[in-house]
Amino acid sequence: MIPSFAFDINPGRILFGSGTIDAVADEIGRLGAKRALILSTPFQRADAQKLAERIGPLAGGIFSEAAMHTPVAVTLKAMAAFEALGADCVVALGGGSTIGLGKAIAWRNDAPQIVVATTYAGSEVTPILGQTENGIKTTVRDAKILPKVVIYDPTLTIELPVAMSVTSGLNAMAHAVEGVYARDRNPVSSLMAVEGVRALRDALRVIVKQPEDLPARTNALYGSWLCGCVLGTVGMSLHHKLCHTLGGSFDLPHAETHAIVLPHSAAYNAQAAAAALQPLADLFGGSIGGGLYDFAKSLGAPLALRELGLKESQLDVAADLAVKNPYWNPRPIEREAVRSLLQRAWEGVRPE
Ligand code: NAD
Repeated sequence: MIPSFAFDINPGRILFGSGTIDAVADEIGRLGAKRALILSTPFQRADAQKLAERIGPLAGGIFSEAAMHTPVAVTLKAMAAFEALGADCVVALGGGSTIGLGKAIAWRNDAPQIVVATTYAGSEVTPILGQTENGIKTTVRDAKILPKVVIYDPTLTIELPVAMSVTSGLNAMAHAVEGVYARDRNPVSSLMAVEGVRALRDALRVIVKQPEDLPARTNALYGSWLCGCVLGTVGMSLHHKLCHTLGGSFDLPHAETHAIVLPHSAAYNAQAAAAALQPLADLFGGSIGGGLYDFAKSLGAPLALRELGLKESQLDVAADLAVKNPYWNPRPIEREAVRSLLQRAWEGVRPE
């Protein structure tokens, strides 16, 4: 029987498919805007430049200093550029770091945002902003953080390096894995989660061998959109808490950390959330933790936190931090079990 549920559907316009990058100028017009500030990382500056040329007179300028963890100092600099150019909207071209900058601007000045998503992290469909100041990362959730328009053009992901495609895809899957057992899940969020993981599973198997395969790239972006929607809709649990702790306190890289921890956090919750996880376990040979580990291994993903530079002596502190503020999780958060989860993830051994 379908249970009773509440579902806060995030509004937003999605343009999906090869060539949708050509719609940016029209979308700026639809928003009633006239002058866009285009955002990118230094690495994607040339792509931002190409986009500016496509947009023509609607492109007011480019700010290409987006950085990991959305430092407030960078946001303030970008806002000064926004003011100086007389911009009235932002176009973020890139992954979670660039999208974070667009969200940080919009949260402060209500600028409408268009996002052209080029990784699988999923930030473009969430009303969540994580930002850092004085070494402390805080998270805000606010409707005005949600981008108005998201463009998913798979041709822009062809050059996403294979290693990053894999870790970013596993990062997306992590949203779905936690989504199926979320306390506030609903039948539609679970549908999106399972379909998102299926699409990414099929796509990543091809991408590692043929990174330029457009149907696979399209499937991966479709899966990442669905998994991002799950992240934007329901609450996350142990896995996201662990990754937030490892990223925030030990400066571990975002996507790689998610990729390594996922099989272990899924195994931790496997029994407590067995029925909810079953459709996902079925996609990986029947065991969610072991299956995800084998899948990640088959893709050449990093498997051990020690490969990311985390010291074994830091695991105790990491476990303490991860259990510090109580939060809901299908299985109770037990300090010793979390510590041994971290040990296995650090060593890179298959979850039991
Ligand atoms: P990223 O945005 O940091 O990108 C990593 C690097 O890859 C950058 O140099 C970028 O320019 C480059 N890149 C991006 N797309 C490319 C492409 N198609 N081809 C070649 N290079 C490309 O990485 P990410 O994993 O997408 O984002 C991580 C950040 O996003 C973290 O700070 C994380 O906290 C945040 N995030 C936030 C949410 C949210 O809902 N608020 C969700 C997921 C991630």
